[in-house]
Amino acid sequence: MRCWEGMVPVGVNKLPCAKSAGYPFGQGCFAAGDPAARLRGIRSQNNRKLFTILLFLFVLSLAFQFTLFDGIAFAQGKVKCYVCGKELQPGTYWIFGNKPVCQQCYNTLPKCDICKIPVKNFVYIDGKRVCYDCYYRLPACSICGRRAIQLWAIKDSSTGITKSYCNDCIVKYGPHCAACGKPIVSSSSSSGDYVEVTNELTLEKKYYCENCYKTLKKCAVCGLLVRAGIRPLSDGRYLCEDCLKTAVFDYNDIKAIYDEVVPAVQNILGSKIEVVPPLYLVDQKQLKDVQKETDSFSANELGFYWSRIYASDNNKYAPVDPRIYILFGEPRSTIFWSVAHEFGHAWYSENCPPAQSKEIVEGFAQWVAYKMALIKGYNIEITRQMKRSDVYGSGLRKFVEIERRGGVRAVLKNVKAAGY
Ligand SMILES: [Zn+2]
Ligand SMILES: [Zn+2]
Ligand SMILES: [Zn+2]
Ligand SMILES: [Zn+2]
Ligand SMILES: [Zn+2]
Ligand SMILES: [Zn+2]
Repeated sequence: MRCWEGMVPVGVNKLPCAKSAGYPFGQGCFAAGDPAARLRGIRSQNNRKLFTILLFLFVLSLAFQFTLFDGIAFAQGKVKCYVCGKELQPGTYWIFGNKPVCQQCYNTLPKCDICKIPVKNFVYIDGKRVCYDCYYRLPACSICGRRAIQLWAIKDSSTGITKSYCNDCIVKYGPHCAACGKPIVSSSSSSGDYVEVTNELTLEKKYYCENCYKTLKKCAVCGLLVRAGIRPLSDGRYLCEDCLKTAVFDYNDIKAIYDEVVPAVQNILGSKIEVVPPLYLVDQKQLKDVQKETDSFSANELGFYWSRIYASDNNKYAPVDPRIYILFGEPRSTIFWSVAHEFGHAWYSENCPPAQSKEIVEGFAQWVAYKMALIKGYNIEITRQMKRSDVYGSGLRKFVEIERRGGVRAVLKNVKAAGY
């Protein structure tokens, strides 16, 4: 066998082969030659082994680091592009949440407007490109069942149930502003911004967009918004179209109500009064002026009874110069209530001691109006007055209860005796 110089381990001194035959392959040629050269060769071979071991350990540690960094799946070569399925090499792809996407897909495909992941197939919703993963996570419209990015949460005031409307359904079926007619939506929040207003006469609810609620006047009678372009009354009050139609302005109309109320109330209470006060029709400004002039604080907003009380004799009182003021421009049922209420005060001032509590004085007048409204069937007016939270409401409820327990006789006994 020949000793080939080319087979000599790398780095070993390239000594010429002393004996070209008789050495088994692999023993090396360095054995021939001087001992020093041989020793040098052995030392350098040991260094090489150490280097190889260190290199191996280094590579091993790198591999370990990769395993930690890219996950077990990558170490096993199983990471694939979420979009195209191509196997991925470390450092060459994008991660969205836990979804890897290759550079090519990232560069060439359009991205979902919600999750921003590049995807091949989309649905278009509310003008946005949506991937199917995001699509199936979207909430659905309560009306048409379609999924939508933007839903309007609207609470139905009659059922109390909140429904979600998509952009199409809110226009077709959602609540519309009772003033401008536009669907009630807003761009600033996820729920339609609207204002619920209760019609004080009918107790029905209406909805308005925020803009109309802020800019339009309120009807002085029913509390609903007044359509733009309607002019105020002489005293500055605004009345909506409906209330303008039913409002009573004419003196003769209101005098007719008074003429109906006076005998009916006297009949209920069982006695006539000596001086039936004259009736004056006033607007809101005049009513306030009269109340100011007479220093009266017990007047309500719709009418006013006033007199000077002179001597009392045998539980009979003598009011001097009594008057009734009624605010015009209110609906018939409200004017009827006010007229009966003020005449109740007139009857009271001749028959009952003055300076009783406001709850007795106003409660009695309210009860007189209530009795008349019952005869006329003005049930909504009754409900409205019974619900009042002020002394007009509490006084009325007290006298209705007194009558329920002891009849009209108990009512009269209560107002004629000082205090109850
Ligand atoms: Zn890809
Ligand atoms: Zn998406
Ligand atoms: Zn819908
Ligand atoms: Zn509106
Ligand atoms: Zn109105
Ligand atoms: Zn009163």
